[in-house]
Amino acid sequence: MFPWGDDRRFNSYNRFLKQRFGGRVQKLTLDAGFTCPNRDGTVGIGGCTYCCNDAFNPAYCDPGKSIRQQIDEGIRFHHRPGVKPAGYFAYFQAFSNTYAPLTRLRDMYEEATAHPSVLGLIIATRPDCIDNPLLDYLQELQEHIFVTLEIGMESCRNETLRRINRGHDVACAVRAIEQAASHHIPVGTHLIFGLPGERPEHWLEDLSLINHLPLHSIKLHQLQIIRDTVMEAEYRLHPNDFFALPFDTYVSFIADYVERLSPDIIIERFAAEVPPRFLSTTGWGGIRYDQVIQAIEKELNVRNSWQGRFVQF
Ligand code: SF4
Repeated sequence: MFPWGDDRRFNSYNRFLKQRFGGRVQKLTLDAGFTCPNRDGTVGIGGCTYCCNDAFNPAYCDPGKSIRQQIDEGIRFHHRPGVKPAGYFAYFQAFSNTYAPLTRLRDMYEEATAHPSVLGLIIATRPDCIDNPLLDYLQELQEHIFVTLEIGMESCRNETLRRINRGHDVACAVRAIEQAASHHIPVGTHLIFGLPGERPEHWLEDLSLINHLPLHSIKLHQLQIIRDTVMEAEYRLHPNDFFALPFDTYVSFIADYVERLSPDIIIERFAAEVPPRFLSTTGWGGIRYDQVIQAIEKELNVRNSWQGRFVQF
């Protein structure tokens, strides 16, 4: 038994859900019609060089539909005979889901929380779309229902953030995460491994920052280059600037990473899963996500190792 309370070798999101909600909770991706300050000219235009929100929006997502309708259709979309989740999270995922006046945000979030099957909200946003009135409201809301803020970092390096046109720096991401955590709101972040100019030794070095952040959870993604993005053009011009890890090397790298990651941070994902039709490069050739997890657990088993074994604070 590991400190997080089960015998898996990492602090898993499924374990957290089981302890908190009694079982698996299905996320329902929603598109509430937000845009993004890095696309509409407020911070930048064109967006992050890898951005393609269509790549992760299921078919039922449509900002023309109400939140309630998307939730109902999402429940039907995810229905599997004989499999009943403990409930559902309304996942405000597309674009920047705190980028609107607070009154509009309230209406949307509360339309979701009013649904009888919804157990919580997951709100994905950019670090520069957080302010104290919003956090005060979310702090109050989470006294009634589970709320997580997902604040994308993507990289811990300013040079990379400039190159991918993120429109914010590392300090901005750190501030947003600390500000949200100080309101007692669980904060998740995501990182992309393989952005141009970065190497695996950088990602391991950057753990010195990650391990000091008040993070509730983390999503780790291999870079997947999406068709017709600015990044695809950059990749064609400068392929050697990108360090794409083949599957076996990625598994080994993730085991190294997990061994050095704080055991307090719940791991929500180990890899991204963009549908192959969106991909510019073949990636790992159809390896399923459950196979990724199995391979990482097998690697940790072979090493007789676990999350945080070599963590240094
Ligand atoms: S912050 Fe998100 S939605 Fe905005 S441009 Fe970047 S990836 Fe796209």
